[in-house]
Amino acid sequence: MLNYDLTRGKKIRRIDDTAFKLDNLSSRCMFCHATPDNGFDVVWENDTYTVFKDNRPATVQHFQVIPKRHIESVKCLTKADADMVREMEWIGHRVLEDLDVPASDRRLGFHVPPFNSVSHLHLHVQALPYKSSLMKLEFLLTPGRNGSDKGISWFADVGQTVRILEKGGRVKVLSC
Ligand SMILES: [Zn+2]
Ligand SMILES: [Zn+2]
Repeated sequence: MLNYDLTRGKKIRRIDDTAFKLDNLSSRCMFCHATPDNGFDVVWENDTYTVFKDNRPATVQHFQVIPKRHIESVKCLTKADADMVREMEWIGHRVLEDLDVPASDRRLGFHVPPFNSVSHLHLHVQALPYKSSLMKLEFLLTPGRNGSDKGISWFADVGQTVRILEKGGRVKVLSC
């Protein structure tokens, strides 16, 4: 099985040069190297995005849509990224549509740090139901106060995310 965390147990080197540090960061990131050669089950890609099957599927169909460019997490996104998130959402829906997954059985969203497993922005694209109640909990959604904001949970629905970003907000675990 594919192990995303190849850095565990490695010695940390002291690096003073910022440019090298950034370069090093993306070279350590598994999702920056999401290719079939590296064991990823890539189902679709273009110059900007890659879609691959989740290696630990929580639902019968479970994909990840990622930008090829390294973006740490949903927390880093601002209003300027709303279009990118919309594109990722659109791609996710096309993948599920191809599999004839009805709209009511689709779940698309982001894990909010520190509850994300890989620090490279990835949109979970799932066809319900979940394989277990524990897995369901991992992707729990809670609506915010006015029904459009994100509530207190570690999984942000893609639609909620777009709405928050377009209003100039940021996606966090606690909405305040
Ligand atoms: Zn990355
Ligand atoms: Zn995740």
